[in-house]
Amino acid sequence: MKHNREFEIAWLGLKDGISTFVYDIDDKFMQERVEEHDLKDWKARIVLTFDKKSNFFMLHFDVDGSVVVPCDRCGDEFPIKLWDEFDLVIKLTGDETKVIEDEDDVIFIPRSETVIDISKWLYEFVMLSVPLQHIHPDIDGNAGCNPVALDLLNKLSGHEDELKNSIWKGLDKFKETEKPKRKTK
Ligand SMILES: [Zn+2]
Repeated sequence: MKHNREFEIAWLGLKDGISTFVYDIDDKFMQERVEEHDLKDWKARIVLTFDKKSNFFMLHFDVDGSVVVPCDRCGDEFPIKLWDEFDLVIKLTGDETKVIEDEDDVIFIPRSETVIDISKWLYEFVMLSVPLQHIHPDIDGNAGCNPVALDLLNKLSGHEDELKNSIWKGLDKFKETEKPKRKTK
């Protein structure tokens, strides 16, 4: 199990209170675990703050990084920012034979398990940091999308007004952002 070592925390050897760990997650780490492969070039840094108490640990994960996604509007690939944070509580249990159901954000592990492999959570939290909407950010108030694709979308919308379904919603949003007065702060 040597290859997982860097994602193992031997909590017994940690001092009480806060320890900080930094993990650099690369594309290989994510591709080995992910099922959908339309996202690529994963680069993430996770800063884990591990607060050791006598019977439980409080973990805080700060995710930062980027992944290349195809744009929902124009189809071109671009790097989208990963940014989020997560909390997790690990409670130590004395009775190893008793199975305790994990609650939301609370994980139970037997006290005899002195090494915790956190790779599963690193993967999950990086995945959860991917924004749901993949659309090129604006550049100087204009859509950052592929201009050829945008032009085509505009022409199509002139001919087929009835087809105002989900794909055009994205386009409408783009038009709104072009108005000089923006409501966003
Ligand atoms: Zn785009």
